Amino acid sequence: MGYELERRRMVDHLLSSGYIRSKPVIDAMLSVPRHEFIPEGERYGYVDSPQGIGCDQTISAPHMVGIMLELLELGGGLRVLEVGAGSGYHAACMAHMVRPGGHVYSVEYVRELANLARRNIERTGYAKWVTVLHGDGSEGLKGHAPFSRIIVTCAAPSIPPPLVEQLDKGGIMLVPSGGRWLQDLLIVRKKNDGEITKEDWGGCVFVPLRGRFGHTG
Ligand code: SAH
Repeated sequence: MGYELERRRMVDHLLSSGYIRSKPVIDAMLSVPRHEFIPEGERYGYVDSPQGIGCDQTISAPHMVGIMLELLELGGGLRVLEVGAGSGYHAACMAHMVRPGGHVYSVEYVRELANLARRNIERTGYAKWVTVLHGDGSEGLKGHAPFSRIIVTCAAPSIPPPLVEQLDKGGIMLVPSGGRWLQDLLIVRKKNDGEITKEDWGGCVFVPLRGRFGHTG
């Protein structure tokens, strides 16, 4: 696979900029071969910016992936739902962190991208811990709920109600919420008594969520 040096440089940049700090996140980002998830991987795999992955969609910039991995507080054994598989990179990083007993279910709206994500995840050896499904992730994944963590990697107009329902007690959900061009990254927690709390991490930019609870038009 190679590119260890490039990954080390990317992780050093994320560490010195304060985007990441914990060992599990550092290990995941040092291990997952990001260039394998990007069409022109060799040239752009480790640049800290979003990259096109086809179908007008993007893989998030490394710093955004790192920020979200830290906020999710992932650990072995957790069950994760991702809305927006895209290239599959984020799912592979999360798989690295929930091994050996956990699992990532990643839903992708565009069939071609669901196939791409699945291929990338198989190629890089994470298929045992990731299931990629084609469908509308704004409705969640009832058959596999509840989830200890939910991450939405596209911009929702507001928090989709099925995702709140499918979040387990003690769970954490990240949702970029707001307009089409600029959103706030919301950290939603479901306490053990079922109470929901919301915290605003700050501004972010994601491609729009489509489907039932997504942006219309
Ligand atoms: N996490 C990805 C980046 C995803 S970009 C990665 O690591 O590469 C956002 C993705 O969300 C796009 O692929 C887009 O097609 C998808 N998407 C948009 N609306 C969706 C929906 N309702 N359900 C599932 N995926 C959706």
